[in-house]
Amino acid sequence: MRRANDTIFALSSGRPPAAVAVVRLCGPRAGAALEKLIGRVPEPRRATLVRVRDSESSEVIDEGLALWFPGPRSETGEDMAELQLHGGHAVVAAVLGALGKLDGCRLAEPGEFTRRAFENGRLDLTAVEGLADLVAAETPAQRRQAFRQLKGLIGDRAEAWRGRLVEALALVEARIDFSDEADVPENLLEPALHAAQQLRDEIATALDDGGRGERLREGFVVAIAGPPNAGKSTLFNRLARREAAIVSPYAGTTRDVIEVHLDLAGFPVTLLDTAGIRESGDPVEQEGVRRARARAGAADLVLWVVDLSLSGNSGGDREELSEIGTDSNIWLLMNKADLAVEKLCIRNESQSIQQAFVISAQTGAGVDAVVNTLATYAKDYFSAGEAAVVTRARHRRALQDTVGALDRALAEGADGHEELVAENLRAAATSLGRLTGRVDVEDILDVIFRDFCIGK
Ligand code: GDP
Repeated sequence: MRRANDTIFALSSGRPPAAVAVVRLCGPRAGAALEKLIGRVPEPRRATLVRVRDSESSEVIDEGLALWFPGPRSETGEDMAELQLHGGHAVVAAVLGALGKLDGCRLAEPGEFTRRAFENGRLDLTAVEGLADLVAAETPAQRRQAFRQLKGLIGDRAEAWRGRLVEALALVEARIDFSDEADVPENLLEPALHAAQQLRDEIATALDDGGRGERLREGFVVAIAGPPNAGKSTLFNRLARREAAIVSPYAGTTRDVIEVHLDLAGFPVTLLDTAGIRESGDPVEQEGVRRARARAGAADLVLWVVDLSLSGNSGGDREELSEIGTDSNIWLLMNKADLAVEKLCIRNESQSIQQAFVISAQTGAGVDAVVNTLATYAKDYFSAGEAAVVTRARHRRALQDTVGALDRALAEGADGHEELVAENLRAAATSLGRLTGRVDVEDILDVIFRDFCIGK
């Protein structure tokens, strides 16, 4: 059971064996634990060479560096220590074992260090999310966005907005509370509404970003689709094998759709192979097909592959293409050009096709042109406009709620309903507070920290 008073510890570095292992400790007994293991508490924030001993047998386990970060100026706000050890299985196991034997010390749960930082006010909720995104970032653009968020791009802005809202609210409340008194000016409502209007417009502008921030977190989704045997899997494998581009060493395989994460010119592209989409009588498979279709239909871009060597296939077939969501952008990839050069005659029967390429997934001819065009497309998409403030659906909902409440406040203000203006300004401030984790967050905390690893 998680208790706020426990001293927690964990291996914070990657899985052993590794050159170095970092074990972190946090909580009221962190100093006492150091006394037991290394015989002293080092000078604050100075790397100190120490011998780590088992607390019971006094046997030396390893020699390494110890760091001491007394609270409240530590990452979590509590007393913290860090041991840098040799990164072997047995070393790490012995040190964690020695710590586990100490009173009031236990292994940390996933994300518990960060959770304490949040609970002690060292990080707001958007910074916590930024930290999670930074650890998960696979491309430079994702890393930059995550770092900006960690450093307060949205959190500080939300706090500033909230501060201005509270000031506007104070004006309206003063007007309500002291309306009988002679020295309270009549026109307090007007400046409050003016401020509310400005805030509303600023927040609406931040929301109007085409979803770029959310997309950058998750990757620009490109689905490879088309009729059976057109060469989708061959193309997917060719793209996934490009060592310069691939991010995750293994293609993640869900039952229905295989996906691989690519880094194209620094931007994340999630490539889906929908080759598994087949009609089937088996209800479980039908469900898989449905999900795969939905995933491809929701893609930002569909690469529609056709077999050029079959007659009549040199253009997008309207009927088959209509299976795909009409909102998607579609590029036509005419495959097996190695077999069919003499038949080449590009027809574009479908209005929805934006680009056409002649390729051979097997020989690789023409595939570079597709990749380069894709990289440019992703870059243009992500680089349009300023850095996105909103990076999660949670942020979007909170800001939309804020704008909604401000709109209601403005409407009530126009009718002179001071009480209702105040009520809606309060609701707007609450929505912003929810965004940064000031109010009402218990229910979302578990969801957010669930994604962390142990030791973070
Ligand atoms: P999918 O069903 O669309 O995924 O198609 P596959 O990738 O499984 O390919 C179907 C067949 O076409 C396989 O035998 C591939 O070797 C072949 N194929 C795929 N691309 C090419 C190509 O560019 N040229 C030739 N000659 N054969 C290809």
